[in-house]
Amino acid sequence: MTNDVLVNSVSAMSDLRINGERLWGSLMELAEIGATAKGGCRRLALTDLDRQGRDLVIRWAKAEGLSVTIDKIGNVFMRREGRNPQLLPVMAGSHIDTQPTGGKYDGNYGVLAALEVIRTLNDLDIVTEAPLEVVFWTNEEGSRFVPVMMGSGVFAGVFPLEQIYAVKDSEGKTVGSELENIGYIGEQMPGDHPVGAYFEAHIEQGPILEDEDKVIGVVQGVLGIRWYDCKVTGQESHAGPTPMSLRKDALQTATLIMQQVISIAGRTPEGRGTVGSVQVYPNSRNVVPGEVTFSVDLRNISDELVTEMDTELKTFIADLSLKSGMEIELKEVSHYPAAPFDKGCQAAIAGAAEKLGYPSREIVSGAGHDAVYMSYLVPAGMIFIPCKDGISHNEAEYASPEHVTAGANVLLQVMLQYAGVAG
Ligand SMILES: [Zn+2]
Repeated sequence: MTNDVLVNSVSAMSDLRINGERLWGSLMELAEIGATAKGGCRRLALTDLDRQGRDLVIRWAKAEGLSVTIDKIGNVFMRREGRNPQLLPVMAGSHIDTQPTGGKYDGNYGVLAALEVIRTLNDLDIVTEAPLEVVFWTNEEGSRFVPVMMGSGVFAGVFPLEQIYAVKDSEGKTVGSELENIGYIGEQMPGDHPVGAYFEAHIEQGPILEDEDKVIGVVQGVLGIRWYDCKVTGQESHAGPTPMSLRKDALQTATLIMQQVISIAGRTPEGRGTVGSVQVYPNSRNVVPGEVTFSVDLRNISDELVTEMDTELKTFIADLSLKSGMEIELKEVSHYPAAPFDKGCQAAIAGAAEKLGYPSREIVSGAGHDAVYMSYLVPAGMIFIPCKDGISHNEAEYASPEHVTAGANVLLQVMLQYAGVAG
């Protein structure tokens, strides 16, 4: 028996609403752990604050009667049994680690929206056919330990556990030892945890929904990403005595590549190109720069388009190196394939938004999410809500109580639809 034959008596459930005030209260309470002076949150993965956040969410889950399983990378699964133990759980969640100067909503919202779904069903004594699970994944942000989306990546078999245990932060502390320190190395092998479908509610982290007055974003997929380090090697020389024609100015050559990154990105509607980090050596006012290193971030909606961007950038660099006589190295440091989300999940989210009277639109995600790795394993979908001015990874991050409530109402409907309601 599979979960998708279970869409029954759900239409009678369309009047259900989550408790928006309670969800908002929990969001604000969790945000107190690591609260910053500017109203944001700093709860880096596997720190003591992360432990406190984890402990709080688990305490809330246990108060709702959920059973808790932790895997060896510290992912936490909180389960509400259904009537039919043969069925795979319908899972929803996100992450509770934050950026160093992060906000209250990124990640935390998806976890607490899922918990609010459970609380609502408990209030109303509604039993689903399939079990429901709330999850938070370890280290989605990747600010303290790289790679990003670490816990869901290990769960999906993308990263080997032992290799991830050895990853170090800037102080040389490893993921393995820090997981142990906070007491979150569980028993279960990552991935050894059957799932039927996965949903993640999240703030958009971009400006589109707000700009168009939409309440729900039906996420079609996540952009494919390639990250590079680029190094241009020229020749340091004195800014005065060295005439322009005899210079090998690494910075001037680097800026040509940076501009090319932007124009390549502009050629397709969902193309993105960013140079976000630059180091100039020796970084002195009166020295012609001898070496410049900078990051390149390319994104697009399909892997084919990302590959085209990659080819175009490499061709440009090869030409430029020849013309300028400078050595230019472009090293790919990581890459994430584009992840289209399941059409059925998208339809369920769009249908729920319509039924609930929330204006919605299709949208792509420019940022990575745990749902990407879950989409490798099971039907997965994401629900976006607007965030103020499109700002996230920032202490000023804000989503309104009304939108926070709306996204969780949609999540409630799709979880009921996928889990089936015992009639
Ligand atoms: Zn997030």
